[in-house]
Amino acid sequence: MARAALLEQAGATDVGEHLGHVVEDDRVVTHQFRCTRRGYRGWHWSVTVARASRQKQPTVDEVVLVPGGEAIVAPAWVPWKERIKPGDLSPGDLLPIADDDPRVVPTYLAGDADSRELAREVGLGRPRSLSIEGRNQVASRWYAGPGGPEAPVAKSAPATCSSCAFLVALSGPLAELFGVCANAQANADGRVVSVDHGCGAHSEAQLTRKQLPQALPDPVLDTITRDDLETF
Ligand code: SF4
Repeated sequence: MARAALLEQAGATDVGEHLGHVVEDDRVVTHQFRCTRRGYRGWHWSVTVARASRQKQPTVDEVVLVPGGEAIVAPAWVPWKERIKPGDLSPGDLLPIADDDPRVVPTYLAGDADSRELAREVGLGRPRSLSIEGRNQVASRWYAGPGGPEAPVAKSAPATCSSCAFLVALSGPLAELFGVCANAQANADGRVVSVDHGCGAHSEAQLTRKQLPQALPDPVLDTITRDDLETF
């Protein structure tokens, strides 16, 4: 009966063998059939039949095509806001944050009681600032990123950014751990680096004797003239 109901919906060429059945509930069973339709490898037809209590004849509840374990299916949908990555914004694009974004708080909630009160009354500064959660998120991201101590360039650096003349200090709560690299020759020029990051363009980097360019031999002066050549 399940196969007959399925053949009414899908052509006979799209229906393969019976794969098995699952008992869903009392008097409710789902039968599965292989789908042989082109492009649907790994999918199967699922036909659910049920018999109401005190009835002799079952009826068909639904006929659907469902993906099996080996089916090729689209990846799970992700909201566009979560899909945006750094570099995706084009000029003119707007990306407003949600009112309840945990990364920011109204400025009058940050700082000590006096400064909060002053900011609230006078309306100084920005309406919102980084929250503690926002700070933690950015600190973790920067520290684990290419400007952190685990970056390959930092692992083989002669010294850390904390002793480099090109490290420009930040102000505010992230200043203890991060600064901005201001060395035009460094990969990190203009980017945030942690104080324990480092690179070969460190202001105090010195070449070892082995790394110094080899001294050139004394020049040889060619004194042979045209006449000398003819004599030979
Ligand atoms: S030049 Fe290198 S060591 Fe100096 S601040 Fe920039 S990244 Fe750090």
